Amino acid sequence: MHKFSLSKELFENILLKKVSVLSKENNKYWKKVLLEPKIINDKIEYSIKQFDTLTITNGLGKDNPSLVIECKKIDYSSSKDCFEFTLGKVIEQKNTNLEENYKDNLIEQLLKEKELLKDSMNRDHLTKIYNRRKMEEDLKVFSRQSNSSFLSAIFIDADRFKGINDTFGHDTGDKVLVYLAEKLKKHAEILNGEVYRYGGEEFIILCFITKKHIVQKLNDLREDIKSKKIYHSIRDISISVSMGVSFFTDCKDANEMIQRADFAVYRAKNKGRDRVEFT
Ligand code: GH3
Ligand code: MG
Ligand code: MG
Repeated sequence: MHKFSLSKELFENILLKKVSVLSKENNKYWKKVLLEPKIINDKIEYSIKQFDTLTITNGLGKDNPSLVIECKKIDYSSSKDCFEFTLGKVIEQKNTNLEENYKDNLIEQLLKEKELLKDSMNRDHLTKIYNRRKMEEDLKVFSRQSNSSFLSAIFIDADRFKGINDTFGHDTGDKVLVYLAEKLKKHAEILNGEVYRYGGEEFIILCFITKKHIVQKLNDLREDIKSKKIYHSIRDISISVSMGVSFFTDCKDANEMIQRADFAVYRAKNKGRDRVEFT
């Protein structure tokens, strides 16, 4: 076992596994410590002495931080003209609270990653708004809340969307969907709700609002969507939507609320599109 005294920074980096190779320049001291002469065929040859473990310290005194660390191998690097100690796992540590900090940081990092992963599972890849999976999860929660008597579902289906793909191409179709999602997100906030991509060119807004207020707000939404042109070199694109609305109080459960809103969209389509139908 050999003992090193290192700077605080290097000591911590070794403990945090940011540094796994320790270099020491090829000077008299290290030659004396590490080189073992052997006589082979009447010639002196040197081999590098190997240590299984190293003791690493920082600072002086009895309560200085120290650790015993596995030393996997010691090599000589001719390009750098130094000895290199490849470090392994920490075997023992004294007077260091770094391990606790390290664990805390690691746990915090893992929790953040878990949150990000969960969020990405709940989002639609193209528009980045919530997806159907999240809608189904939220629907269960919202329908059990004390304010569920104000819960409403708005089913939104883009009008003649296939035509946009056919005329301008699928990529442009995608851009139109992103445009729609942005508009719907803005209006979902106004409606005190959340928007989800249900699938394809279909979206759902779940919101808490009274029947009295919803009509005007949905007509504003409809006008806002079709009033803006989406630039395209062939010609600018405008899009309209058909909507079906249902209320939780009129349904036996949350699934029925979605089915009813979907059904109301069919009525809106049959009546000529670009309109809102209620159940
Ligand atoms: P309607 O007014 O009756 O709703 O007509 P529509 O053309 O909107 O309805 P239809 O169901 O016939 O076509 C929907 C189209 O949406 C077909 C499909 O290719 C397209 N679509 C679904 N998802 C995507 C997508 O992620 N990107 C693009 N570009 N198109 C999509
Ligand atoms: Mg559709
Ligand atoms: Mg459609």
